[in-house]
This record gives sequence, structure tokens and C-alpha cells, in this order.
Amino acid sequence: MKKMIFLCLTSLLLLSGKAQEAGMAITYPAGEFFVSILSEGGRTANAGLLKNASAEQLAEYLPDGTFELEAQVFLVRAKGKNILIDTGYGRYLFDNLQKLGVSEEAIDAILLTHLHPDHTGGLLRNGQAAFPNAKVYLSEKEYEHWSKQSDGSAGIAALREYGERVGRFVPEAINSRGSELLPGIRAIEAYGHTPGHTAFLIQSEDAQWLIWGDVAHAMPIQMPCPEVGLAFDSDLEQAVRTRKDLLDYAAKNQMTIGGMHIPFPAVGKLSVGKAASNRGFVFTPLCLCEGF
Ligand SMILES: [Zn+2]
Repeated sequence: MKKMIFLCLTSLLLLSGKAQEAGMAITYPAGEFFVSILSEGGRTANAGLLKNASAEQLAEYLPDGTFELEAQVFLVRAKGKNILIDTGYGRYLFDNLQKLGVSEEAIDAILLTHLHPDHTGGLLRNGQAAFPNAKVYLSEKEYEHWSKQSDGSAGIAALREYGERVGRFVPEAINSRGSELLPGIRAIEAYGHTPGHTAFLIQSEDAQWLIWGDVAHAMPIQMPCPEVGLAFDSDLEQAVRTRKDLLDYAAKNQMTIGGMHIPFPAVGKLSVGKAASNRGFVFTPLCLCEGF
């Protein structure tokens, strides 16, 4: 616990500077689970990466023409199991795990939202599977899509190092009462950013955490204006539909949201926008003081 308190203090101190400059970690309880957010750093992105944004929307929500694009990894722990959701770039991941007292050998499962390199970079270390005992899960659609790319995919190449420890699944609609992928965790359809993009829903006691991967990249504009997309969305229209559906469902069901590109600590609650200036959604970050 002493180590945890130290980490929390470190996080708070670092937040007074540029949050994305250093690898940080913070942990929140979620029912029987503990969810840690491990920062992989970030950069300032140009609004030119956005699609469907009007000049008026850009002027109102991104007046300096930029937004903060961070990257996060989520570590989910319960009942002696250690589960990673994505692996980031692999930039600070291994140091962060060490700080939390979790060895690479102790990771039991890795759930992948999709196969972009900012989510799969930590799968390998020195060209080999970084997590020797982990089973890796990704959606069937995502695997199929990237397997067919003629120029190859770093994500698919990394999966080969895990051999038979790669499992594929078919995600379900968020409003279905579907089966669990792992105890307490369901795989949720979030297609559009990539063909098989998946969110993960953690349900334990009263806690409902939707770890949504890349459902949003530019929070200041995509929450009030969910129709705004990203140049990297493989199917812009589907990505917009997914964002609207998940935002709506998560806000109505008072879920806690975690996102790989939400600025650290990258978790918060959603509500429906009521102001004349916001007919979309409002994201309220969780207090750092609630974590440890
Ligand atoms: Zn991403």
C-alpha cells in the first residue's frame, strides 16, 4: 500500500506539469476489480486530423486548432488474475507494470481493442512475446481484416509470436445480455474505427466500466459533437454511429468510461448535454483523489 500511496503522490506531482510527458499509473476500484490506467505518453495533434467538423465547431471547441492525443493501457485485476486491455506503444508499459508489482509473467490475458500499432506495440519485447503466459484475445473481424492486408501488419506479426495462445471472439451489442469473454468482462461491438474494433465492459457488483478503446480521440470536440470523426477511421459513418450509440447507452446507464486516448487519468462519467451550446454529451473525469 505504501508503494501505491507513493505512486499516487507521484501522479499528482507530475500532473502539475505536462501530464503526457511521463509514464504514470493510477488505480481505481471497480466492484471486485481494480482498474489501473498506465500512461504511454502523448502529443499535441492537429485538428486537420478530424473529419466532419464544421468551421464553427472547430472555432468553438478547438480554438487553437489542436487537441491532446494521449495513449493509455488498462490493467484489470481481480481474483488473482491480471488482464491487460491493449499494450500501448510499449513505451512506459513495462516500467509501469514493474512499479505496480506486476511481472510480465503474471499477466494472464491481453484483450485487444484493435490492431493499430499504438495498441499492440507492447506485445513484443526484443522481437519476442513480452508476456510469456498470457492468452491474447481479439475479435474475429479484426483478425480477418488485418490478415488480408497485402503489405502485412505489425499487429498480426506480433500475434504470431503468441502462437496458439491467440483466441478470437465475436463481440456482442452492448444492449444484449450476452455471454462473458472472461469472468465479469464482456466484449462489445464498437466497429468503425477499424473493422473489428471492440470495447470491453467490466461488470462487478454495482460497477459498470466501459473501456472503449478508440471510440473517441479528440474529447473536447467529439463529446459535444459525436458526428466528428478521425482521418484514421476505416469507416467514418460506422464509427460515428458507434460513438453515438455507445455514448447514449453509457450515459443512460451511468457507466464509467475508460478510453485509450482520453487524457490521463482517462476515466470519467458521461451525461447528456443540456446547455444550448452542447446538445451532445459531457464527459466529467474521475477525481484523481479517488484513485491510489
Ligand atoms: Zn489508437
